Amino acid sequence: KVRHPVKISFKRKRARKRFTVSTGAKHRCSECAAIFRWPADLSYHHAFQHSGEQLNVCPETSCGLNFQFPYQLTNHQRATGHHDWQVVCPVCSKRFGSQRFLARHTVASCNRYKLEQKKTDEQ
Ligand SMILES: [Zn+2]
Ligand SMILES: [Zn+2]
Ligand SMILES: [Zn+2]
Repeated sequence: KVRHPVKISFKRKRARKRFTVSTGAKHRCSECAAIFRWPADLSYHHAFQHSGEQLNVCPETSCGLNFQFPYQLTNHQRATGHHDWQVVCPVCSKRFGSQRFLARHTVASCNRYKLEQKKTDEQ
């Protein structure tokens, strides 16, 4: 799997492509024509578009941007450094939003992050 953590993209890149329509599990918004595959996506959409709830707000006080989906906020935080992430990899000192993400942090990505940091230092 090739990942591009530096790239800012608002397109969905998660492994949901293999999802087939066989289940017919569609979640239609009650306020507009939007249809989502996942109930969570529908609730994010509803909060963002219709109810004015801010579910994915940047914690940086000078910023406070609100995003529709959590992955957009994560991308934003990674790109801008607007985070208060407390979970730190003891090896490469990369920060994570939750223990869950650190658990998915592989040796390969650890080494890559160390390399990236080195490059940044040399610049
Ligand atoms: Zn809607
Ligand atoms: Zn921000
Ligand atoms: Zn690491």
